Amino acid sequence: SWKNQKPVFTRAPTYGDKLAIVDSSGRYTYKQLYASSLGLAGKISSALNLDFGSLEGKRISFLCGNDASYTVAQWAAWMCGGTAVPLYRKHPPSELEYIISDSQTSLLVAGHAHAETLEPLAQSLGLPCLTLPPTSSLGTLDDADIQEKEAAITDWAERPAMIIYTSGTTGRPKGVLHTHSSIQAMVQGLVSEWAWTRDDVILHTLPLHHVHGIVNKLLCPLWVGATCIMLPDFEPQKVWEMLLSSKTPMVNVFMAVPTIYSKLIQYYDQHFTQPHVKDFVKAVCKERIRLMVSGSAALPLPTLQRWEEITGHTLLERYGMTEIGMALSNPLKGPRIPGAVGLPLPGVEVRIVMTNATNTTIVEGSHRQTQVCPGLEGKEGELLVRGLSVFQEYWNKPQETIESFTADGWFKTGDTAVFKDSVYWIMGRSSVDIIKSGGYKISALEVERHLLAHPDITGSTWRPTPSRQAWCWWRRCQGIRWARSTRRTCCDSSSHDWTVSLSVAPHRHFLPRRRGH
Ligand code: ATP
Ligand code: MG
Repeated sequence: SWKNQKPVFTRAPTYGDKLAIVDSSGRYTYKQLYASSLGLAGKISSALNLDFGSLEGKRISFLCGNDASYTVAQWAAWMCGGTAVPLYRKHPPSELEYIISDSQTSLLVAGHAHAETLEPLAQSLGLPCLTLPPTSSLGTLDDADIQEKEAAITDWAERPAMIIYTSGTTGRPKGVLHTHSSIQAMVQGLVSEWAWTRDDVILHTLPLHHVHGIVNKLLCPLWVGATCIMLPDFEPQKVWEMLLSSKTPMVNVFMAVPTIYSKLIQYYDQHFTQPHVKDFVKAVCKERIRLMVSGSAALPLPTLQRWEEITGHTLLERYGMTEIGMALSNPLKGPRIPGAVGLPLPGVEVRIVMTNATNTTIVEGSHRQTQVCPGLEGKEGELLVRGLSVFQEYWNKPQETIESFTADGWFKTGDTAVFKDSVYWIMGRSSVDIIKSGGYKISALEVERHLLAHPDITGSTWRPTPSRQAWCWWRRCQGIRWARSTRRTCCDSSSHDWTVSLSVAPHRHFLPRRRGH
């Protein structure tokens, strides 16, 4: 049925006056978002001298804050029939330029506050740039004749919808091209597994250039007609305020990356010291919030445990990536196993294979069942994924696209996984995250899990390494020394200047800080 469905915005008219987005400038209904997007879509088409709906094959890059204007720009690009390329407001101009050029963008859209950043770039690249009005005046544009415009496009499903750039952990960020159908598959898998309804209210605090922020936290609620409260930036105090506020709409769904949870815990420990406040926090979170999710990186066990103590919620950890959306998830109902990432989402098939010459399949799984090859129980291997949510191609990188799929069409995630105790576990990046010691292979993630379980280690910090344009996470423990760039890369420490920096409980010195090698 997903094949016949149209993009997210085509459902907006049926939700009409229902509240879609609340941001720092106001409240916007589905109808207002729809009308504003349609207005902008008209302007984009005229700026490019093209008929409405005929922008297939054209990329529209947009730079907006975490507010309603983001959705307006994204929907407008889609309404024109174009491909939306989200830019991130915290990226330096060089990174923005890389994405605009790499995606071969035809036109730029700047949110009101971001015109200053984008216009000079537009000029130097010779591209047209449209600036949106302040978010508070969105939704006042004419209600154009919607159906006629929508009917201009018939073949939605296979149209390129978005190019999302990867985090760039293992190299320069790659543009990942998703069609409307792969986006819908991502959305629908999550909507059914996490039981999204139009009564849900999500608090959005994540950047909007990764699938976590775009799909899980924004397109899912907009698909079902729910409400998304968007904060301009992540601030622990503001997030706690919103989670605990009894002002309507009241938040009942929250999703974040592990670092955000540890910052919220830090804030709680510093500010919510009185027993009655602690009781209040727990009571409100337990009663009002139905779902709290963590993902994008491994969730440290102490964070999971402390969050449970504070809020009464066992965080639901899931695994996903730009190329495939979410693939594995702990259950909404039923036991969530700490450190594991659950089972395949509906529509997702997975395999774990040995990456040696034999390519033997160790595990084969789907939403319904998983089978382990007899004799290979507990063996680790590379995780492969297949399903409708898998991306179409790496933009302008045909060779990388070919290399990232097996001959029979499975996407090679590059992550190592194991199926144990009836659930999947992510062990790290398959090629770079394995430490070899005395002939044994050791998963960096496994060592980190133990490290982070130590009561004196409260977290870790990121530092840029001078020799690499990456943020690296350097660690040293009992003779094992390794580094991981933003997520999972293991660098060769002997060739770098290195810093060891573990956040340690204030009164203790678990490990010394060192520089140099
Ligand atoms: P690049 O592909 O450019 O090197 P990247 O892979 O870090 O960057 P993303 O697509 O944003 O870019 O991140 C996906 C990666 O995040 C996965 O491949 C996986 O390594 C990691 N990840 C996501 N969720 C989890 C999780 N729950 N546990 C462990 N790792 C996770
Ligand atoms: Mg990747």
